[in-house]
Amino acid sequence: MPGILYIVATPIGNLDDMPPRVAATFGAADFVAAEDTRVTLKLLNHLGLKKPMMSYYEHALHHGAAILDRIEAGESCALCSDAGMPCISDPGEGLVALCHENEVEIATVPGPTAAMTALAASGLPTGKFLFEGFLPIKKGERDAALQAVSRLPHTLIFYEAPHRLRQTLAALLEGLGDRPITLCRELTKLHEEVVRTTLGEALTKYTETPPKGEFVLIVAGAPETVKESASEDDAAARVAQLISQGLSRKDAVRQTAAELGLPKNVVYDIALGSI
Ligand code: SAM
Repeated sequence: MPGILYIVATPIGNLDDMPPRVAATFGAADFVAAEDTRVTLKLLNHLGLKKPMMSYYEHALHHGAAILDRIEAGESCALCSDAGMPCISDPGEGLVALCHENEVEIATVPGPTAAMTALAASGLPTGKFLFEGFLPIKKGERDAALQAVSRLPHTLIFYEAPHRLRQTLAALLEGLGDRPITLCRELTKLHEEVVRTTLGEALTKYTETPPKGEFVLIVAGAPETVKESASEDDAAARVAQLISQGLSRKDAVRQTAAELGLPKNVVYDIALGSI
């Protein structure tokens, strides 16, 4: 009889945030598929457990077939990542899909995930949200990703590493316009911090003081002015007016975006469509 794939969440910073079922599942599993076996070894040591491990990370996704073989041969596997829920901006979705395709039973052992923890703490609307995870690093791809969401009313959730935070805040400001943001840093850890501000102010703050720690960025959805099509007419008319007054298209777009509180790329698209 085949075994089971258990999807096991682990704490995002505080070892006390570990449901008892996590230890029980690691204990009962025949082996562990871990993102970084060194990180998971520390967790297993903390729980007083010893388990065979296989690595399953970005550059070892081909291990999925070997993991599936073992499960089909009757072993149960606990899949985990370095922190939080596997499959959420972490390895796992390919293995879970493979198990579904091969009719292998899947069971979840849920726990904290940084995205939902930050959304709850953000004070921004939680009814409709969009998880974007990490934005692409290449500028063209990042701009396209932001353009695709710039008019949506949903609260937006982004992950970011501290060394790219400043650059990401600048891209968000340019792509979405100045909006409320809640920066959630080091959640559940000693230096946990939840700061409600605006994209412009956050960019200034982290340009002056380099950021430290892990961040989730919760950004407000598009304001009514961006959602309403009437504002497109306003923007088009204003860009045309400024160009007729002698400004270059680039400068006219920049000034209109600032005046109407619209993202520059949205105004640029409007200008391209109408001039
Ligand atoms: N699978 C994880 C989850 O369920 O949240 C996410 C893994 S992803 C590779 C790592 C990113 O999650 C970090 O760069 C940061 O954006 C966010 N993150 C993880 N732990 C965090 C924490 N304690 N506080 C703030 N952000 C955190």
